[in-house]
Amino acid sequence: MTETPQIVTRFAPSPTGMLHIGGARTALFNWLFARNQKGHFKLRIEDTDRERSTSEAIDAILEGLRWLELDWDGDIVFQSERAARHVEVAESLLASGHAYRCYAAPEELQQMRETAKAEGRHQGYDGRWRDRDPAEAPSGVDPVIRLKTPLKGETLVADVVQGEVVLSNQTLDDFVLLRSDGTPTYMLSVVVDDHDMNVTHIIRGDDHLVNAARQTHLYEALGWQVPIHAHLPLIHGPDGAKLSKRHGSPAISAYRDKGYLPDGMKNYLLRLGWSHGDDELIPTEKAIEWFALEGINKAPARLDFDKLDFVNGHYLQLCGNEDLIDVLLPHLAELTGQKISDDVRQRLRRVMDELKPRSKTLVELAENSLFLANSRPLQLTSKAKKLLDDEAKAALRALLDDLRGVEDWGANELEKVIRQFCDSRDMKLGKIAQPLRAALTGGANSPGIFDVLVALGQEEAVGRITDQV
Ligand code: GLU
Repeated sequence: MTETPQIVTRFAPSPTGMLHIGGARTALFNWLFARNQKGHFKLRIEDTDRERSTSEAIDAILEGLRWLELDWDGDIVFQSERAARHVEVAESLLASGHAYRCYAAPEELQQMRETAKAEGRHQGYDGRWRDRDPAEAPSGVDPVIRLKTPLKGETLVADVVQGEVVLSNQTLDDFVLLRSDGTPTYMLSVVVDDHDMNVTHIIRGDDHLVNAARQTHLYEALGWQVPIHAHLPLIHGPDGAKLSKRHGSPAISAYRDKGYLPDGMKNYLLRLGWSHGDDELIPTEKAIEWFALEGINKAPARLDFDKLDFVNGHYLQLCGNEDLIDVLLPHLAELTGQKISDDVRQRLRRVMDELKPRSKTLVELAENSLFLANSRPLQLTSKAKKLLDDEAKAALRALLDDLRGVEDWGANELEKVIRQFCDSRDMKLGKIAQPLRAALTGGANSPGIFDVLVALGQEEAVGRITDQV
C-alpha cells in the first residue's frame, strides 16, 4: 500500500508592512486546508529584502496570526537564514546547464528594454548571454545567474481556482536566480524553500499567478514536482473597486481595534472568497470540517462591513460573559482613559446579559457599558439634562428615601419599591424611569432601569442620584 504524502501548506509573507486583510485570508485558507487534511501549516517569513523587511512587520504578522488563532506547525522559517542553500541550488543549476551567468550591465539592460519598447517588442531579457561563450566575459563585472527557460511553447499552470492558465514562454524571460552580489532572488528562494519544506499546496493571492508559471520552469529544471496551485482572487472594496485607503485601513490590527472578535473575523474572512451553499455563519470547527479548495470563488470578493458586523454580532452573543468581559476591558479602558476597577467588572457581570444583545462589536459594547465605568459625578448629555427638570428632581429626592431603605437590592424588589412609589403618587412608571435613567447613566439610553440599578449596586446608585438632585 502506498502512503499518501502528508499535505503541507504554508503562509509566506514578506515582512515589509502590516498583516493586511488579504494576507490574513490567505493564511486562514492555508490553515483551514491543512487542518481539514490533517496536514501541516507552516509559516515562512520571506525576509530576503533586507532593506524593506523590519522586525516590527514580523511582530505585526505574528501578532495578527496569534490573534486569529492560526497556529503554525514547527518552527518559523526565516528565508534569509537559508541563503546558502539557495546559492547551492543556483550553482547546481549552473553545473547541470540549466542556468548561465549573464554579464550585461544594468545600463545595457536598460538600453535593451528601451529599444524593445520602441520597436514594440516584449521588453523582457533577450537572452544575450544565454549561449555566449563565458570566455567573452568582461573582466571586473560580477555576473547574475539566470535560468535557461524554454524559448518556445507554452507553460501551463493547472490552478485549482483559476483553471488551466496557459502562458506563452515568449513572455517569460530568463529570470535572475542570483543577483550580482550573490544574493538569491525571491523566485529562487520561494521554490527551494517550498521544496525543502515539503509544501504540497501553494495557496496565495493571484498576483502571483505569473510567478507560478516562472516557478514551474524552475521546478522542471531541478527535476522537482510542482506543488498544486490555488491562486485566490483579490479582495475589493464595498464599491467593487480595488482596495485603497478610502476603504479604511486594510491592516488586520485595525479590525481588532474596532472591536471584532477573532471568531467573527475568521468567519467573515472565510466567506470572503469561499462558500459552502448558502451558509453564512460557519464556526471554525465547521470550517475545518467543510473546507475544500473547490469552494474558493473565482470572482474577486467584496468587503461588506454590514455583513462583518452581523457575523461578529453573532459570535459576540455566543461568547461567555466572563470571556467577553476580559476582551472588553481594554476597549473600555481606552474610552475612559483609566484602568477598569474590580467594582466596574462586577457591575458588568450583573448586566452583561442585557448589554450584549445591543452590541455587535466590542467597541459598541464598550460604548454601551461606559456608564458603568464613568466616575461620579456623571457628566450629563443634553437629553439627560432636559429629563432632570425641577419636578423630576423633586420626585427623585423622594424616591431616594425609599431606595436607601431597600434591604434586598435585586430586580424584583426594586421593581416592587418603585412601582409602589409611583402608585402612591399616581404617577406612571415612565415618568420616574426616564429621569432615573438620566441620573444613573448620564444619558437617555440604557438597558432596563431595574437592571441598571442592580448593576450599579445600592451605594453607587444612591450616590449617583444624590449627585443630581
Ligand atoms: N512573500 C510573498 C508575498 O508576501 C508570497 C510568496 C508566495 O506565497 O509564494 O507576497
